[in-house]
Amino acid sequence: MIVRIRRPHTGARFIHPLHPEPRTAILAGGFQETKAVRVFPRGWSDSAERFRPACIAGPPERLRNLAGKVVSVENSLIVFTYEGKSGLSHSDREMFWKAFGVPVFEQYLGPRNELLAMECDAHSGLHVVTGCEDLRLERDVCACGSSAPRLSRAARIEELAELLA
Ligand SMILES: [Zn+2]
Repeated sequence: MIVRIRRPHTGARFIHPLHPEPRTAILAGGFQETKAVRVFPRGWSDSAERFRPACIAGPPERLRNLAGKVVSVENSLIVFTYEGKSGLSHSDREMFWKAFGVPVFEQYLGPRNELLAMECDAHSGLHVVTGCEDLRLERDVCACGSSAPRLSRAARIEELAELLA
C-alpha cells in the first residue's frame, strides 16, 4: 500500500477565480495543497503531467517555458505577478492565449504569495483582496457585478514608471 504523505499545510492558500475549482497544478512553492490543488515547486515535471491538471498556475517565466511544449490545459491559466513588479504584459497575455487556448487570469501576490488582487471573469482589472492602498484603484462596479475596487493594469504600469523615475 502506498501512503501519500501530504505536505504540511504551510504556505498561502490558492484561490481560483472560477467555480467549481478545477484541478490546478501550481508551478511555484509556498502554497497549500488541497484536494484540487497540487504544488510543484520545481516547475513542470512528469508528476505534474500525471496529475493531469485542468489549470496551470505559476509565474510568467515558468508558464512561458511550457508554451512550446505539448501541455494541454482545459480550464484556465493563472499567471502570478508580484508586488512591486509590473503586471502581465499585453504581449504575454496574447502569447499565453495563443499557446494554451484557455482564459488567462492574473493574480497579484505579496512576498509570501498572499493574494493581494485577482482578475475576475470580466477581465477588466484585478479586484483587490487585501492591501494595495497605495495603488490607484478603479471604484466603479465591475461587469462581473462585484463592487470591490480594481487595480487596472495600465495604472500599475504607470505607477511603476513613476517609482522608477
Ligand atoms: Zn470583476
